[in-house]
Amino acid sequence: MKHVALLLFSCLFISSLQAQKVKTDEQDVEMLRKIYDEALARGESYQMLDFLTGQIGARLAGSPGAAAAVDWSKETMEAFDFDNVFLQEVMVPHWVRGQKEIGKIVNSKMGSVDVNVVALGNSVGSGPNGVAGKIVEVQNFEELAALGEAGVKGKIVFFNRRMDPTLIETFEAYGGAGNQRGAGPSEAAKYGAIGAVVRSLTNALDDHPHTGSTNYTPNLYKLPAVAISTNDADKLSRMLKDDPELEFYYETHSQMLPDKLSHNVVGELKGSSKADEYIVVGGHLDSWDLSEGAHDDGTGCVQSIEVLRILKAIGYKPKRTLRAVMFMNEENGLRGGRKYAELAAENKEKHIAAMESDRGGFKPLGFTFTAEDKQVERIKGWAPLFVPYQIYKFDTGGGGADISPLATQGVPMIGFYPDPQRYFDYHHTAIDTFDKVSRRELELGAATMAALTYLIDKYGL
Ligand SMILES: [Zn+2]
Repeated sequence: MKHVALLLFSCLFISSLQAQKVKTDEQDVEMLRKIYDEALARGESYQMLDFLTGQIGARLAGSPGAAAAVDWSKETMEAFDFDNVFLQEVMVPHWVRGQKEIGKIVNSKMGSVDVNVVALGNSVGSGPNGVAGKIVEVQNFEELAALGEAGVKGKIVFFNRRMDPTLIETFEAYGGAGNQRGAGPSEAAKYGAIGAVVRSLTNALDDHPHTGSTNYTPNLYKLPAVAISTNDADKLSRMLKDDPELEFYYETHSQMLPDKLSHNVVGELKGSSKADEYIVVGGHLDSWDLSEGAHDDGTGCVQSIEVLRILKAIGYKPKRTLRAVMFMNEENGLRGGRKYAELAAENKEKHIAAMESDRGGFKPLGFTFTAEDKQVERIKGWAPLFVPYQIYKFDTGGGGADISPLATQGVPMIGFYPDPQRYFDYHHTAIDTFDKVSRRELELGAATMAALTYLIDKYGL
């Protein structure tokens, strides 16, 4: 039975390869096996993540944690004896949260009810006097515009649109609700609002508020803005229906300090025959300040380092130069990603592919791409090699924020794609911690990234 199955599989495998006219060979089958064996039997990614999250912890750009993470990544890649490890200087915004936020619903019938809120990233603080006033709920900017100044002026706006729970692609649901956090506070300011409370971007119903950047529109009043947990958003919505006159109070102490010097960290395995062509794999080293940033994006960083470590450990000599890049400041500025692309252009570095892991460290399903059709077709032709590892997804659909500035240089973008169903349970919260990461899934992800890196290096794109 086993032999029949194997034979059938081999036939399917070969015919599928022939159909795609891709010249992968038996050596590739063996190489992928070696890559997965190294990741699963002798992997280092989990230990790296343990240190990064447990010993260094939160790493918002400009913080002491971010600086420690820079030193740690450099030392880690040097200890793995990569051919070259270096820093790229980059000035980053330096936002600090200050003391813990306070949120209350104040209602004449029930008195004061505490709710869980956190300041949105990059937002100004209210200071000790807080923001107090009537609160008006909207689902979207159209409803806000319909209320206009008459309905909004002097009030707090409560943006309460859920992420669409019917979307299987949770990143799409996140994108669909995201403008409330990114642009909501400034939209509310247009109509004279004094504050903004935004429903946390998650499908989970719990008490953990999710932070994340807001972007103030220049020349508009910068109003203090908070995210509220989904349980408390539902509670507030219910209480508002019962008593539209209730008041809301919140207090935040965040502030933006002057920009600070920080760094991207780059590790290289030098190419042999085509050393002046680069393949990048990366994640972002910074995290939000509320937790140790395990899935966002500690996992992406350690997987990227692990890609190079695996290939070196199995004795693979790349043709092209492979780079693991720890980008700084994805969360509240993207300065590291922009600096990397700027330096690549300045140094006339030819990047043939850039891959990012920034969707969590869950079970790998495959990859998404923003690239020319023929490049996507070439990668899809390698798909049969991944079948034994239960990797089936090779679709168009984006790379990652940090590598996106390279797109203007025509670099194919590749996004590592793990199972997306639990990512937003933890994203930008206090519970994005090491214990939420499965060692097995993390290692499978690193191996999957290493396998595609190997194929791109060998065959080009
Ligand atoms: Zn991230």
